[in-house]
Amino acid sequence: MVKVPQHQIPGVYHRRVGDIVVTALSDGFLDGSLDVLRNISHDEARQILTDSFRPSRRTPVNAFLVYSAGRVALIETGSGNYLLPTAGTLLTNLKAAGVDPADIESVLLTHMHPDHSAGLTDMTTGKRNYPNAELVVHENEPKHWFDDAKMAVATERAKKLYFQAAREQTLPYKDRWRLFREGEVFPGITAIPRTGHTPGHTTFLISSGKEQLLIWGDTVHVPEVQTARPEVCMEFDTDADAAAASRRKVFDMVATDRLLVTGMHMHFPGFAHLVRRGSGYQLIPAAWEQVL
Ligand SMILES: [Zn+2]
Repeated sequence: MVKVPQHQIPGVYHRRVGDIVVTALSDGFLDGSLDVLRNISHDEARQILTDSFRPSRRTPVNAFLVYSAGRVALIETGSGNYLLPTAGTLLTNLKAAGVDPADIESVLLTHMHPDHSAGLTDMTTGKRNYPNAELVVHENEPKHWFDDAKMAVATERAKKLYFQAAREQTLPYKDRWRLFREGEVFPGITAIPRTGHTPGHTTFLISSGKEQLLIWGDTVHVPEVQTARPEVCMEFDTDADAAAASRRKVFDMVATDRLLVTGMHMHFPGFAHLVRRGSGYQLIPAAWEQVL
């Protein structure tokens, strides 16, 4: 009898950008209801998903390794065990990629939400999952998520999942935080803040020679819906209007400059181009590439 596969292959995919290699790593995915969408009706959102052959509102969760100038950085840490059992597989996929977490020098975050920063620390031991890494994040992020007055007026869910999770996950790194505003934060990685989703939400532009890749963070959470309708926001955007304005800026830049793009909530491995379609946009997945 032929043995039928019981498990998916590892979520690891390498992509060269000039002299830099970027490795996409899957943390899994989060399925959820359409209730968290803003500026669109259920019916319209459902129709876009149906037209895109998506049975549900699926939000993939990705992280990225960046090998540059003899060093390696990890952008995002996935969701740890804070969200759904369909996610939280980053450490497994990191191992499959042949990487020891102790070798990561820098962990960069686009922002401090649990699907990005909740894999920093093992809460059963209180120990850092990346024992030798500095934590690199926009200065507005800890400023916001450590603000007791802001936490006091948040919903119970936001208090626990956003404020509390961000604090307990990042505090073990407190003596090795490196806060930035913008500019080069690692060789070949330039931070371009696009705030709104959170107060310090940042995109990272990877550049080497003539090649570039934009890692656009949470510019989209439901790629099919928000590329077609850039005004669609999420219930958990800190400032929805600013988030929509940032999304339009990023989309315009990516489409105009014909940039290669990827993000934390793109369908794995997530590398794509973006083209204008009517009043919105459409993602065109990039072709499979060799590393060299
Ligand atoms: Zn996210």
